[in-house]
Amino acid sequence: MLLDVLIVLIAGFLVTQVAILVTTIYLHRGLSHKGLVVKNPTALAFRGFLWLTTGMRPREWVAVHRSHHANADTVDDPHSPIVLGYWKVQLTNAALYRRTAKDGVTLTKYAKDLPADRWDRALFDRGILGLVIGIAVMCGAFALLTDHWWLGLFAAAWHMTAYIMLSGAINAYGHVRGSRPLDTTTATNNQWLAYITAGEGLHNNHHALATAAKFSFAKGQHDPAWGVIKSLSTVGQISVRHDPAKVSSAV
Ligand SMILES: [Zn+2]
Ligand SMILES: [Zn+2]
Repeated sequence: MLLDVLIVLIAGFLVTQVAILVTTIYLHRGLSHKGLVVKNPTALAFRGFLWLTTGMRPREWVAVHRSHHANADTVDDPHSPIVLGYWKVQLTNAALYRRTAKDGVTLTKYAKDLPADRWDRALFDRGILGLVIGIAVMCGAFALLTDHWWLGLFAAAWHMTAYIMLSGAINAYGHVRGSRPLDTTTATNNQWLAYITAGEGLHNNHHALATAAKFSFAKGQHDPAWGVIKSLSTVGQISVRHDPAKVSSAV
């Protein structure tokens, strides 16, 4: 039984880490800020993975996030811990996200460049369907690994909780605690958070230079997603639009 619990924790954690990696590369650095372009078939695989593991619509994520940058830490910011308080953003980040994504204004204003395509209409706009299939896949994997398919339900629940809490930490902790080497923004750097959020914890760097595809700018900073971006770029699946060397020298 102890081994089963361990497998649940590890499986959920791994899914979360890959989902965060895909979120930062594809949704964040790619679609939102255009610091890089992910090409097919990797882009399609990323969309499919996000659909199965988060049920989110990329253009909604992008719209909420661009609104955050445009209004950072003002009353119009969808999730400012300075305005709303740390715990409200940390614990209700998903609800705050949903409220802004569905407000009928943000999507039109901030994601005009991302209309729904045939993949969205057929599959990816059906978030609940994606999550149900994703959970079924997890249960199937557990049936093979442990003979207890239902453990997949726990792994899926653990993954969703971890994904939502880590996203909340980037938005909440990453605006109130940590260092601010670049003083043009209220966002903060936390290297420990960057290690568990595929580089997103270097949030001060990111807000200061949002189109940089690489989040680490200085010695001692490490962006775990950058190695993956470089590898995918080597095989022609990503093109980095903003040269990180130029970005570094500009800081
Ligand atoms: Zn931010
Ligand atoms: Zn951003």
